This record gives sequence, C-alpha cells and structure tokens, in this order.
Amino acid sequence: MSATTHPQLGRLVDTLRRTVRAGQVATSGPEYDTGRSVWNGAVSSRPGVVVRCADPADARNAVLAARESGVPLSVRGGGHDWAGRAVTEGGLTIDLSGLRRVVVDPVAKVAEVPGGATAADLVSAAQPFGLTAATGTAGSVGMAGLTLGGGYGPLGGRFGLALDNLLSADVVLADGSLVTADAEREPDLFWALRGGGGNFGVVTSMRIRLHAVPTLLSGMVMYPGDQAGSVLDGLSDVLAASQDELTVQFGVLAGPDGKPVVFLSSTWSGDDALAGERALARLGALGTPLVLNVAPVTMPEMLAAIDAQFPFGRHVGIRTRSVPSLTAGVRDMLSLAGSTLTSPHSAVSVHSLHGAATRVPVTETAFGNRDPHLMIEIIALWEPGDARAADHRAWAGDLAGALEPDALPGGYPNLLGSDEVARIAHAYGPNTERILTLKRRFDPDHVFRAIPLPARP
Ligand SMILES: Cc1cc2nc3c(=O)[nH]c(=O)nc-3n(C[C@H](O)[C@H](O)[C@H](O)COP(=O)(O)OP(=O)(O)OC[C@H]3O[C@@H](n4cnc5c(N)ncnc54)[C@H](O)[C@@H]3O)c2cc1C
Repeated sequence: MSATTHPQLGRLVDTLRRTVRAGQVATSGPEYDTGRSVWNGAVSSRPGVVVRCADPADARNAVLAARESGVPLSVRGGGHDWAGRAVTEGGLTIDLSGLRRVVVDPVAKVAEVPGGATAADLVSAAQPFGLTAATGTAGSVGMAGLTLGGGYGPLGGRFGLALDNLLSADVVLADGSLVTADAEREPDLFWALRGGGGNFGVVTSMRIRLHAVPTLLSGMVMYPGDQAGSVLDGLSDVLAASQDELTVQFGVLAGPDGKPVVFLSSTWSGDDALAGERALARLGALGTPLVLNVAPVTMPEMLAAIDAQFPFGRHVGIRTRSVPSLTAGVRDMLSLAGSTLTSPHSAVSVHSLHGAATRVPVTETAFGNRDPHLMIEIIALWEPGDARAADHRAWAGDLAGALEPDALPGGYPNLLGSDEVARIAHAYGPNTERILTLKRRFDPDHVFRAIPLPARP
C-alpha cells in the first residue's frame, strides 16, 4: 500500500535531500520500513517520507523543511505509542531510533540519553556502574516518549516518575532553534516537557539522574481467578501501607490453560533486603498461589522479561482509567475482565502512583495528578489476522465503561487515545491553563502533534 501523497511532498523531499545528509532520507525500502514500523501492528499509517536522524542537525533540518513545505510531521522514538502517533499518514516522520548511544557519568550519577534510546539502552549502560534509572516496566519503550509523558515504573515509589529524574533536555523547537532546557535555562519549557509529551519540540538528548541500586528483589505471584476477591482485598491493605521501596503492578491475564489468573508483580528497591523479603512474602500469602517466584534481579533482566511478553507487531487497543484506590468497583472490574477475556494475549495491568512520585507538588511539572492513585491499562491484544478484533476492542471499551463510577475525570496522557476528548480535558488538572499558554508560546502553529492536549476553552 502506498502513502497518501501530500501535494507538497515532492518539494519537501527535494529540500531534505539538500539539507539532510545523504542516505538519511527514505521514501521506500528498508530504512523507510524501519522508520515507519511501530509496536502496534494495527497501525497502518504510511508517512510520505522518513528522515533517519544521525545527529541533532538532521532533526533540525527536518523540522525546518517540514515547516517550509507545510507537510505535517511526527516524531518517532521507541515506536511504542499504541495509538501510533509516531507516524502520520502522508507526512514526514522524524525517526530518532538511530540515536541510542547512552553515556554514563558514574561520579555525577547522570546519563546522557539520546532522543531515540530505549529504557533497555539506559539501564544496560548504567548497570556496570551499579547504577540504574527510573524507567517503565518494558525495556523496548523509548525513554523520551516515556519521560515526556510521565513514566510510571517499578522504582516510582522510591524515585518518582521517569520525568522527575529528567535534569535537562536538548530540544529542537518549532522555529528550528536548538535550546537546552533545565531549571535555569528555559525553565518554562523544562516545566512543559515534563508531562506535555512531544508537543513542544524534538528532544534530541536528555540528562537523566541515576540511582545506586545494583540489584532489586522481584516477586511474581499468580493466583487462580476464582481467588480474585480475597487476594485483591488483601492487596488493598498492602497498598494502603504504601512503602516507597515497594511497587506492586498487578492485574489479570489468561494463564497457560486459558483460565484467568490474578498477577502481582512486585519490585523491592530498598537497601534493607530482609524488609523486602518480608514485603514480598506477604504478597505470596494472600491466597493459594499457582506461581510464586521471588529472586534478586538487575533492572536490565527485569525489563527484558517484560519485553518477551509484548513482542512487536501484535495488534493492540488500549483504554486507560485512573482511580483513587483499589475500590470495590475496581476489584469487580478485574474479576469481570478475567471472566470475559476474548483474547489469550489481553490483560489488565494496574500501576500505582505512590511515595516519592506523590511528594512532588503538582504544579512543579506539567504532569497533572500527584495524588496517590492507580493507573489502569486495559490492554486488548491479539494476533494479526484475528477475525475477532472488534470483540477484543469492545472488551476493553466495556471494562473502561464499567470503571466509570470510580474513575477520576482525567487519565494518563501517554495512553489516552485521541478520541477520549472528555478525559483529555481533565488530564492536566491544575496545570491545564499553563500548558496551553506555553504551547501557544513555543509552538503557535501546532507543528508538533503528540499526546493530545486539552482543547482551549
Ligand atoms: C509494552 C509497553 C509497555 C509500556 N510500559 C509503560 C510503563 O511501564 N509506564 C509508562 O508510564 N508507560 C508505559 N508504556 C507507554 C509508553 O510510555 C508510551 O507509549 C510512550 O509514548 C512510548 O514512547 P516511545 O518513544 O517508545 O514511542 P513513540 O511511538 O516512538 O513515540 C510516541 C510519541 O512520543 C513523542 N516522542 C518520542 N520520542 C520523542 C523525542 N525524542 N522528542 C520528542 N517527542 C518524542 C512523540 O510525540 C511521539 O509521537 C508502555 C507501552 C508499551 C507498548
């Protein structure tokens, strides 16, 4: 299938061939295919042209050429946005996935992370120094996409969201200027980047704070679905105790025999190993487990295990809702999710925002919700060619509907689909006015379309 052709595409490609180094501009072939392919195999958008950036100057020249021609652009990092916002039909994709070489300063405990580096690139570079970073749960996710939108993860209780660990960023703005944003230089831009996603520019490099945590204690417990009620009751008490060092990601998925299981995937990041063992033992004693594995792991190992469960190319539809706590309504939804699963790959996964991430005042970054809460991902996932795609999507939509009475008005911008206008309106909470004002200042012509921002009142 060929891309829809923008009338100015030819002019754009000519300009790119003059301004971006040879071999980096692709309208077909393997380079083009790499640049346009994203994790969600259901995304069929075909950009008119892909620029495979070899350095920040390529990104700058690509932004200027897109502006001059009027062809819409999108930015691709790790390609994991399920909604496929990294590629725009008929437009220009600025592909940063060639910019991945992370450099670690072990004394300062800071990593220089290029705009296309993944979470795995970062933690693998830090690990030899006994250091690690606050990432999400999967290694193949792009660090920039994760960090700019938020970044819930296994170290969140202790070190905050991924974006709380961003020290500075180099950014190509809509007018082509290349600036560094941090607490002193361009502080408004720095504020907006921490939660506003890719709406403010192309981030070519980030400085990210590292932490001395060489190993973690990781626990995976699975209970049969029919124990969901009592297990989730017990889990509520553990979550209410809210230890910073303990993060529990939990939910439901299909077990090997197709029957639903409740999983509790916990990470202890504290220095007190005995306290960690006690905390994880408690999670293994909430019922009669089918699976109970507790072991020390490194962050690269932990992220690689999740990657194996979420390979590139399956088709995906995600709904997200945030709730204040593990209420009876949420517990009922999780039981319903298990009993109505339509695909063996689908799952509901719940992340908690607690500890350090909640102690950052909400107006300090653009991220809109710092109250303790649970962020729920309802993930419909199926093989390409599965004729029941509509059923899988409906499963996710129905569960999101079932959560409505308990759900907070906003939601996690990185996962909200562009159609969820009512939720997007509240996703930035008290930061809504400021983020819209800064969007107008830094990108008045809407060159960067990324995670959706609220509409102007
Ligand atoms: C398997 C899987 C696991 C996940 N786990 C978590 C998790 O644990 N915690 C969590 O919070 N989220 C998680 N997510 C969601 C993830 O954080 C977002 O989808 C994020 O946008 C992915 O970033 P990416 O660079 O891989 O995506 P891409 O699709 O490449 O980019 C998405 C958007 O981010 C912006 N962007 C990316 N790179 C840049 C850049 N360098 N400069 C400017 N803008 C940029 C662009 O607007 C782009 O359209 C997960 C997603 C998947 C698929």
